Amino acid sequence: MEGKRFHRFKDKRPEDYKQPDLNPYLKLHREMGPPVIVAEDAPGFRGRWAAAFDDRDAPLHVEIGPGNGFYLAGMASRHPEFNWLGIEIRFKRVVLCARKINAAEASNARITRYDAWQLEDLFATGEIAGLHINFPDPWKKDKHEKHRLLGPPLARWAADALSPGAELRLKSDHRPNLERMAASVEGLPFEQLGWSDDVGVQGAPWPDDLVTNYQSKFVKLGEPTYALLMRRTD
Ligand code: SAH
Repeated sequence: MEGKRFHRFKDKRPEDYKQPDLNPYLKLHREMGPPVIVAEDAPGFRGRWAAAFDDRDAPLHVEIGPGNGFYLAGMASRHPEFNWLGIEIRFKRVVLCARKINAAEASNARITRYDAWQLEDLFATGEIAGLHINFPDPWKKDKHEKHRLLGPPLARWAADALSPGAELRLKSDHRPNLERMAASVEGLPFEQLGWSDDVGVQGAPWPDDLVTNYQSKFVKLGEPTYALLMRRTD
């Protein structure tokens, strides 16, 4: 990849933790089995993700930071014609996601415990048919800008990993984050297809939206949800 790389991340395995018992979800996420894919197994599926879905070859949709998994499991149920993969860094949320997937009996969904700053490990060129990011950590202060996932490195990665025609669906409570992403694709093969200043009022710029867990919190507070739809051009 050209330009600034994602910053490196050293994955911690249980043996690396001095006190693994401090986080019971670390152990739990390893014991769950499918739909959980542990961090050291995930790169092995690069270029062959069907193998993680019982060899079911279907367009791969990816959600980054699914949190409790409400959207991931819901979309997987709504769209059995796709394989759905969530990428979540926090052990507890991986477990919650897996429980949601199991409860929904969504056999077309998986959740991996991985760092979204290391996405380049996981996907071959053109392997992703749809990318969904809902309420990424906003890092609102200017001095924290480098922590914001929505930016040039992600845009460059997505230009490679998304197949021509693949959609990128983003929702956030923080408008500058989406503006930054829209600006980051300049010079890359993307077109902007839609924008919403409040999904609750105007609807989302795509047909089958599903309110996420964080989104419902902002709705209760009376705050808008912004949305951006882009497409990887042919
Ligand atoms: N999408 C959910 C949760 C939003 S909160 C919803 O809308 O309800 C942001 C989520 O991103 C959290 O679950 C957080 O743990 C996850 N996250 C933050 N940084 C991440 C990273 N580097 N890699 C993967 N997931 C990350």
